[in-house]
Amino acid sequence: MQEVTKTLSEQFPHLSFKAGRGFYWSAPTGEVVYSRSAQGDRAIWSLLHETSHALLTHQSYGNDFELIEMEVAAWEHAKMLASQFGLPNIDEGHLQDCLDTYRDWLHKRCVCPNCGTKSLQSTAQAYRCFNCSTQWRVTPSRFCRTYRARISA
Ligand SMILES: [Zn+2]
Ligand SMILES: [Zn+2]
Repeated sequence: MQEVTKTLSEQFPHLSFKAGRGFYWSAPTGEVVYSRSAQGDRAIWSLLHETSHALLTHQSYGNDFELIEMEVAAWEHAKMLASQFGLPNIDEGHLQDCLDTYRDWLHKRCVCPNCGTKSLQSTAQAYRCFNCSTQWRVTPSRFCRTYRARISA
């Protein structure tokens, strides 16, 4: 991890890499935060994924579906970085699991609490049911939800 972080910060001097509690890209501060304790291929992939958000200058999104698009784009870019730096190739199953975690989460948000109809987001923080007109608020989407618990090792 140390080496990968060093390589990346040399390669992309405009980004700052900071050890923290987990992996995320902080657009307001311009920091790629990585987990101090994480190790192994998955940790490297997470780091490449967050670095990709930074390099693609992902900042905000109008709705949840744009968020999914950005997630996909960041993974595609991360694959490129992995081969560019001779790092372990990103496992397609891992990538799909990460995206599924998002999809499940988004799916829960968009189901009407009153009648169960799947609805469209009306603003960044609100949904409105086209069947019964119920409106409900959601917390803003965020990048990089934690991975599914069923993933082990
Ligand atoms: Zn409804
Ligand atoms: Zn992400």
